[in-house]
Amino acid sequence: MKTLNFGNVTIDRIQDWYGALLELTTFYPTYNQAEMDANRDWLEPHFLPVKGSLREEMLHLSLHTFIVRTGSRVILIDTCVGNDKKRTVIPDWIGRNSDYIEKLAAAGVSPQDVTHVMCTHLHHDHVGWNTKLENGRWVPTFPNARYIFDKVEFEGWANKQDDHGLDGAYADSILPVVDAGRADLVASDFALDDNVWLEPSRGHSPGHVCINVKGTKGQALFTGDSFHHPIQVAHPEWYTAFCMDKDQSTAARNKILNKLCDNDIWMLAAHFNDPTAARVVSNGARRKLKV
Ligand SMILES: [Zn+2]
Repeated sequence: MKTLNFGNVTIDRIQDWYGALLELTTFYPTYNQAEMDANRDWLEPHFLPVKGSLREEMLHLSLHTFIVRTGSRVILIDTCVGNDKKRTVIPDWIGRNSDYIEKLAAAGVSPQDVTHVMCTHLHHDHVGWNTKLENGRWVPTFPNARYIFDKVEFEGWANKQDDHGLDGAYADSILPVVDAGRADLVASDFALDDNVWLEPSRGHSPGHVCINVKGTKGQALFTGDSFHHPIQVAHPEWYTAFCMDKDQSTAARNKILNKLCDNDIWMLAAHFNDPTAARVVSNGARRKLKV
């Protein structure tokens, strides 16, 4: 993804992982191959393997962190799976050893520079680098950062820590941040300042939020896991097998699309493959992405 320059705000992305996660028919209970094929003209080649290519039946996902720089602030949005985590669900993510910190450094960010970490929700692929292992203990990776978690999301998982969507992350990537006094549990309309504010998009998880970022010359919405694949821009009724409330998540997608469509606001989703940043435009009776 090329740097987005909004005047007094810039946005970059570092990618931590890309791969084939699950079969599309498993991920989307209402998956329809004809509807996917009808959108190939704009999905290929960035967002869908070309017809007949290897593992085309799989959902291909990116894991990445967005870096938002506003004046003196350096904000990370979602922190991928992290290193050394005892996960069980996705083989590639178990005890991972990635060069994430080096990639951050290449983007000009040291852990000490980060002023805020914001998580759209607390699934294990969005919170991993919140902490790192140090002398056998999980400690905040970004020692000077405030970590912004939606209060409903934090409390909604407290009694469901064995959920497969967390896969152990609550204990090793959330609670150590809270115990270290670095977490701010905020309302779903929390505003960091005039440039950065939350808006609720419940359904995928109990307290899922989108994050608005606005500069003097541009605006973006970080949509987290309200969308996993761009096909949901054309078919917002496609919920995932991992949505906590499918009707609520579909309502959230429709609300987001109504906000973004033909409005020159960049859509920055947590799992869309490079170039990731795109705008939502009308496409007949439906919508599509324009990269
Ligand atoms: Zn995710």
